[in-house]
Amino acid sequence: MSLIPFVFLNTKSGKKEPFAPKNPNLVSIYSCGPTVYNFAHIGNIRSFLFVDILRRSLLLGGYKLNQSMNITDIDDKIINESIKRNISVEEFTKPWTEAFFKDLSTLHVQTLEHYPKATESIEDMVSLVETLQSNGLVYEREGNVYFSIQKFNRYGELSKIDVSGMKSGVRYDADEYEKDDVRDFVLWKNQKTKDEKCWHTRLGTGRPGWHLECSAMIRKIYGSGIDIHTGGIDLLFPHHENEFAQTTGAYPNEEFVGTWLHCEHLLVDGEKMSKSKGNFYTLRDILEKGYEPKIIRFHLISAHYRSKLNFSLTKLEESKVSLDRIQNTIFRLLDTGSLWNLIPDDGENLVFSLPELTKLNDNFLNALADDLNVPKALAILHELVRIVNQTLDQTKIENVNLFYEEALRLFFKMNELFAVFSFEKPKANLDGISEEWILEQISNRKLAKQNKDFVTADNIRKELENKGILLADTKEGITTWKKAP
Ligand code: AMP
Ligand code: ZN
Repeated sequence: MSLIPFVFLNTKSGKKEPFAPKNPNLVSIYSCGPTVYNFAHIGNIRSFLFVDILRRSLLLGGYKLNQSMNITDIDDKIINESIKRNISVEEFTKPWTEAFFKDLSTLHVQTLEHYPKATESIEDMVSLVETLQSNGLVYEREGNVYFSIQKFNRYGELSKIDVSGMKSGVRYDADEYEKDDVRDFVLWKNQKTKDEKCWHTRLGTGRPGWHLECSAMIRKIYGSGIDIHTGGIDLLFPHHENEFAQTTGAYPNEEFVGTWLHCEHLLVDGEKMSKSKGNFYTLRDILEKGYEPKIIRFHLISAHYRSKLNFSLTKLEESKVSLDRIQNTIFRLLDTGSLWNLIPDDGENLVFSLPELTKLNDNFLNALADDLNVPKALAILHELVRIVNQTLDQTKIENVNLFYEEALRLFFKMNELFAVFSFEKPKANLDGISEEWILEQISNRKLAKQNKDFVTADNIRKELENKGILLADTKEGITTWKKAP
């Protein structure tokens, strides 16, 4: 399969650039993952879904991937909580790590090739600090080792932060950093109390600072620089700037990252969703309100990753209506075309013979290749829905079976990105009435309406209602049904 050329807006240059991976058959991608001390909120989840969209888009574009996301299982909050509960760091983080993976699978996020943990990368972090020591970029105070940003003249290159106001030797050693506050950051922390989790290493007894793990894991997994690095926009400074300083300081002749991609925030009432503000929902909170995972996925991926997305239940409800409409068209197509047994192909060799569908397929892939323009890809999906409904509403057209089959294959392909549609016959529990019968009534009602026989149309609706089936007519003239709650 030929590769689709992508362009990405690289945070480092601030420009859209052609994507040029070192090896398209093994594109290296690293994403900053969760700190496992609680359930992820759906803002965090937005950033993980962005990674999934990046993955699925590049796979559709013909690339082969080698992708990682780290699990931060060493951090001030984790250490304090485990001391409070009198359990080990591993015991404390285990259920939260499991909850993270469960959320991902609930939302149909594809599994990546690597999920390195900080606790399993200590030796790699120690040797990175040693390399920085031999390059003269670090200093020690009270057993802590700091990166001296004054000694690294490329500091600020990624985030464009101004370092000129920084006083020499101002240090920061907590795991939570103030935005815009430029200081020397800690690479290795000396053990402060005897309860505190520590490792006995060549740097002394203590633990790594938060920024170090990503640089060390990237080195461990890829052995050199990578093609793409992602994270939420709040990580650009200081976390990614510090990663850049650590790796470039250690290996000055190598490019650390080709393309930096940053995902915008999920907001609530105009403010960033965050644990500290308390304005957050977890995935469980939303599921408990009766929304299916596919609706949450569909909603969170529908905005462009570089746009802020204001979360509200009203907006989520709109996504549900939109998703139902697309799904109903797919079911109609499967039914009318008798295509329930059509097996999805692997997509790679998929060629459309109908020009209309070829164009939609090309436009869909080109939208993704243009810096992951999911809103545009979504508009193309809606266009497919419109054309399919139009065709289904007509009775006499040539080659209709070919159209049905190719349209369904295009839905299959689009679902490689969206991963929210079903192609299986719904197993509705309809208390004895068949789905075929309901669809027949819907079609009789439509016919009655076309003949302006509104009494019959109304009677059909009432009869269905008496049997617990509710109809809804969309603006486009499609009728959907559901079981009364
Ligand atoms: P954490 O678990 O806090 O380390 O964060 C995991 C990921 O979620 C990071 O890439 C953050 O940048 C991202 N993130 C945190 N809050 C939000 C938000 N409100 N919207 C989108 N991404 C977020
Ligand atoms: Zn990171």
